[in-house]
Amino acid sequence: MKTYKAQAVVVGTGAGGAVAADALARAGIETVIVEEGKFFKPGDYGTVFDGFAGMYQGGGSTVTLGHPPISITLGRCVGGTTAINSSTCFRPPRQKVAAWGGPSYDELEPFIEEVEQRIQATPADPETIGGNWRVLKRGCDKLGVELKPLVHNIKDCKRRGRCQFGCPEGAKKSTDISFIPSAVEAGATLLTKHRVDGVIVENGRAAGVRGTALEHGYAFEVRADVVVLCLGALTGPAFLLQHKILKKSRALGRGLQIHPACRVAAEFEEVVDGHVGLPQGAFVDQWKARGVMLEGIFIHPGFLITMLPGVGPDLKSLALRYPHLSAFGVMVDDTTEGRVLPGRWGTRFTALYQMNREDAEKMRFGIARVAEIYFAAGARRVFTPRFGFTTLNSASEIAKFESTRVKAAHYELGAFHPLGTARMGADPKKSVVNFDLETHELKNLYIMDGSVVPGSLGVNPQVTIMTLALRAASRLADKLKP
Ligand SMILES: Cc1cc2nc3c(=O)[nH]c(=O)nc-3n(C[C@H](O)[C@H](O)[C@H](O)COP(=O)(O)OP(=O)(O)OC[C@H]3O[C@@H](n4cnc5c(N)ncnc54)[C@H](O)[C@@H]3O)c2cc1C
Repeated sequence: MKTYKAQAVVVGTGAGGAVAADALARAGIETVIVEEGKFFKPGDYGTVFDGFAGMYQGGGSTVTLGHPPISITLGRCVGGTTAINSSTCFRPPRQKVAAWGGPSYDELEPFIEEVEQRIQATPADPETIGGNWRVLKRGCDKLGVELKPLVHNIKDCKRRGRCQFGCPEGAKKSTDISFIPSAVEAGATLLTKHRVDGVIVENGRAAGVRGTALEHGYAFEVRADVVVLCLGALTGPAFLLQHKILKKSRALGRGLQIHPACRVAAEFEEVVDGHVGLPQGAFVDQWKARGVMLEGIFIHPGFLITMLPGVGPDLKSLALRYPHLSAFGVMVDDTTEGRVLPGRWGTRFTALYQMNREDAEKMRFGIARVAEIYFAAGARRVFTPRFGFTTLNSASEIAKFESTRVKAAHYELGAFHPLGTARMGADPKKSVVNFDLETHELKNLYIMDGSVVPGSLGVNPQVTIMTLALRAASRLADKLKP
């Protein structure tokens, strides 16, 4: 058994963990960071399929259970999910922050600004977004819809179009680049390929973690004054439930919200070349109040082709049209709440999520708006992820698409933003951590990841998670300083 000693141990290096660890280390707190994944350096990146195998939990096969099952992928590497995300940066929406009943937006603002500065958040250049932007802009302009460039944390993009499989150029300022090196420089010890298997509890307080060094197979423990868990909103609650670390927190694992999303593709006469440039670079927030955001995505042929209709020669001829395809995403601010339970049969978590009718209708509304934009831009056909309507041949078919009763099970969906499964709040009956992100139940145990966000944000969450972690870790550092 190898033993480390520190004032703070931070587990996980994603949006929450890396930011928390860096804030602690830079405040002079002795910090050990434990991450089960590998630290990818520029020369380590292979094909996109290597990315799935090496950088994603379960090789990218993680899903929620329900009708339909929803693919929900997670990073497992230094940088966590930020290393494989699409780089979009949104500030936490003011209205949502007000509803939390915790720190006000004005109190969060300096932390938001610091996060944005560290990850170099800047609006994407339409030139970098490429052909997808061109056709979407044409359609939006015709309909009077405002298409805007997304703010993203990328500098000097080389337009490789593979943000979700790790950026070999280091252009995306994910936390493996923007926070972990700084934490290490400030004196933190980083243990990679080390999996935490349990929390050490002594005298009713968290006193460290224990686990396994995956490369060499030996056991280790980190003894620390405080434990900061940042395993993410699916893996984290499942871990705490499985190991019975929090026994009284009834809210733990409940209230899972995921921003269900889907992609809509369109075929054009012209060459779009959507794969050249930023996969996710533009958005429409005109229908945000209705719980619908449209965000630009473009997808590697291996994935885009699998969502197109047809088999055999039909699919082959469509696949050959890849350069003529454009794609755009729909994301729903969900009211559905799911639940996370411990994993079974070797999986890390079980996530139950049955999309409700309200959210299924929002999804239908969003897909219809994208189809309108595409037909206005001159698309020949639009391909939707809704069973029974996989191909729309003209704008006149949209009315039927919208008036036909919708069933969640008829969609092919993905989700990328699990939130809300260990919510922050004042009431221990309804929340798991307080507004300093310390658990109500176990002293010295903190959670600083997506699970503490009190539910759906309606926008991509990395900046919110980083902001909450930065605020909580700064306050914790003040407490730990002699
Ligand atoms: C494909 C994709 C695209 C996305 N695009 C965007 C985007 O454009 N903008 C945006 O805002 N958000 C995006 N997201 C979501 C965003 O990246 C996540 O919400 C955010 O990273 C979550 O942060 P976290 O700290 O909760 O967890 P994570 O970032 O997932 O970090 C958890 C870390 O804990 C580690 N870990 C877990 N268990 C253990 C253990 N037992 N021992 C040691 N380590 C462990 C994991 O390996 C991982 O590194 C995207 C997500 C995906 C999947």
